[in-house]
Amino acid sequence: MAVLKVLQKDELGKLLEELKREFQIVAPVIRKYGKKERVEYHQVEDFSEIHLNRQPDTPPKKYFLPQNERLGEEKSGEPVVEPGDRKTLIFGVRSCDLKAIDILKPVFLDDDFTDTFFQKRLENTVMFGLGCSERQDNCFCDSLGINPLEDENVPVYMYDDGEKIWFHVTDSELEKFFTDFPDGDPEELEKMKKVWQEEFEKSAIEIGVPIPFPELVAFNAPFWKEVAANCLGCGICTYYCPTCFCFGFFWEKREEEIDKWRTWDSCMFPLFTKHGSGHNPRETQEQRTRQRIMHKFSYHPNNFDGVPACSACGRCISHCPVNIDLRVILKTAEKYLKDEEGVKSSG
Ligand code: SF4
Ligand code: SF4
Repeated sequence: MAVLKVLQKDELGKLLEELKREFQIVAPVIRKYGKKERVEYHQVEDFSEIHLNRQPDTPPKKYFLPQNERLGEEKSGEPVVEPGDRKTLIFGVRSCDLKAIDILKPVFLDDDFTDTFFQKRLENTVMFGLGCSERQDNCFCDSLGINPLEDENVPVYMYDDGEKIWFHVTDSELEKFFTDFPDGDPEELEKMKKVWQEEFEKSAIEIGVPIPFPELVAFNAPFWKEVAANCLGCGICTYYCPTCFCFGFFWEKREEEIDKWRTWDSCMFPLFTKHGSGHNPRETQEQRTRQRIMHKFSYHPNNFDGVPACSACGRCISHCPVNIDLRVILKTAEKYLKDEEGVKSSG
């Protein structure tokens, strides 16, 4: 049975101290890089550092698929190094990033091949969701059917009204942490959510492109040249993306041992598909941009029950150095794919 609890913000430390007995706590905090400030997920000891006011610049994907991960020693018979059993609580994960983890699950937990590193991290991690009180920069999650105010797959979903934090707890195991705190009034919460929801509706954009994109028509469409014209091939869009999962391997020699590492890679890099022969099937940035978008909106949904590999978080838009906007690409594709001429040209 679900319970609704409300904490004054200055009581948050008390709750987190209790949770810390069972979990290492990861939460969004501000980090300074020169003059720039970023909100990122980090392990926290000082809970006053927690910053829930805006979408973190980077998603929590690294706690499931680290950017660099040592997989083990390449010596016959040596067991691979797997993540430990330490339980992690990721605090304040917004609906887009929760959805992104759901998008990654069938990729890494396929019946024929289970990635035990991802699996173990997932098993040892609990996430507390966080509703968005307003649309975050460039987010369009609601256009892809994601609810910025709810997610039924997490055991706790929170709402921050500026003074208090509301906790909707649906996991009986976790209820024990909340017994000392007062019950919330469900009507008051619903009223607040309604106001937030109405604000979302006012700024919603309609994305009517068919998902999956019809593969052949979209692949051969002329618009890729235009949408990729300014792309630098920097890969920033993929590194910030909560759903991009391409990786590569490298081997590092340490005295007698050779370690195998897995690192994030990007389909936007020219070397990503370059063969040993020197041939590159995706020689141009136009081809690479097409691959990134087709993977997300055609190949992935074709393979995984119609679900695109995008949770519409908007980070690729916010961080692209030349302002390439995924929403514009989707609207361009929509216009072309809905156009009879476009369909006819597919042959
Ligand atoms: S493609 Fe862009 S909007 Fe979609 S999940 Fe990735 S970073 Fe977010
Ligand atoms: S961040 Fe922008 S410029 Fe860089 S690879 Fe992505 S789309 Fe191209």
